[in-house]
Amino acid sequence: MLTIKCAKCKTKLFKYKKIGQGKVLRCWKSKITRLYDGKVSGRDFVCGHCGNVIAEIKDDRLEMNSDAFTYTGTKIRK
Ligand SMILES: [Zn+2]
Repeated sequence: MLTIKCAKCKTKLFKYKKIGQGKVLRCWKSKITRLYDGKVSGRDFVCGHCGNVIAEIKDDRLEMNSDAFTYTGTKIRK
């Protein structure tokens, strides 16, 4: 499980069940297991604390802005 954090203010955004060792480029909504602090602003998902744009929202996923977040935790082996 990964904890995704804002790169600017380090606020915890959400928990994500990442399967496989690849980069975190997109986050499927169905694998977000817990939402901490983040909100929808138009078509963007933004940090609830500082407004940093974390991702672009698509129907079933978030297209992540790689400079906008960091993460801790472990990816799940396939
Ligand atoms: Zn932030």
